[in-house]
Amino acid sequence: MKQIIFLLSIVFIFGCNSKKQQADNPPNTSSKLKDNKDEIPEGMRNSPLFDTTVVTPTQLFDNIYYVGYKGVGSFVVTTSEGIILIDAMWTSNDAETVIVPRIKELGLDPNSIKKLIVTHEHADHYGGARYLEKNYNAKVMMSKVAWEGLHDPNARVLVDPFGNKSSDLSVPKNYMELTDKQLVTLGNTSIQILLTPGHTQGAISMIIPTTDHGEPHVVAIWGGTGLPDTLEENKTYLNSLNYFASQAVTQNVDAQISNHPFSNDLLDKMTALRSRNPNDTNPIIVGTESFSTTIDTTLRKNVQEKIELLKKKDQ
Ligand SMILES: [Zn+2]
Repeated sequence: MKQIIFLLSIVFIFGCNSKKQQADNPPNTSSKLKDNKDEIPEGMRNSPLFDTTVVTPTQLFDNIYYVGYKGVGSFVVTTSEGIILIDAMWTSNDAETVIVPRIKELGLDPNSIKKLIVTHEHADHYGGARYLEKNYNAKVMMSKVAWEGLHDPNARVLVDPFGNKSSDLSVPKNYMELTDKQLVTLGNTSIQILLTPGHTQGAISMIIPTTDHGEPHVVAIWGGTGLPDTLEENKTYLNSLNYFASQAVTQNVDAQISNHPFSNDLLDKMTALRSRNPNDTNPIIVGTESFSTTIDTTLRKNVQEKIELLKKKDQ
């Protein structure tokens, strides 16, 4: 039953709603991602989150690329001193067979991965972190709450949607704590971190200065799209969203990307980008006003509706 509840929550929140159990067992880097959709309860098998079709690696901006599945993936941020990777997908196997070869396909060097920022403590974002730490010496970075979450011995047992058990998934051995408004700098690039608990308690968001054909832009990543379960958690989510939006507006954010590319049309936009002509505009860049409006009409609207619903249930 617990598994069913867990999987149900996945469908609604684009991730898992459970923290990872203690994993003192040695990392099992040989574990292969199971992709047995028979293990996913019927009715959920068509959730886009579990779509493991590999996307053609795509350049989004001059210094930002997407590698991964249609369901979830990683962003590769290139700098003058190597790569900052954002998120590590489900498993070591994903890191080994999807992230690393796709980085090579882009003509980039996975050996230059210096830092790995993990957006939050759900297995679809940190599962490959230990592999990248061990084999590429990537410095794993996340919020303290996220780190504690994925080591919490009292957390519900995590079973990922493909049937991998917690003990199959490796956790990174070391991490650097990310704090609010911290700049993660590598060479000529600084990514600003915002602590935005809500989707999970340890979720972070990011603001990244970028360029498109040499023109400066600012892109934001909202840390965790799906809504949590309880009224309190949803109120926290809304507070964090308001904080994120105010910071983004102040910093002239004019584009947004998601590590679940089936949300906010990123899959379609990437298709367009792959056949983009030199004079075509970049479909990810929407302008500062449209960015704010989209926050209002999607993320904020959704959480406000859920808060109202939960309040009514409480009455
Ligand atoms: Zn998640």
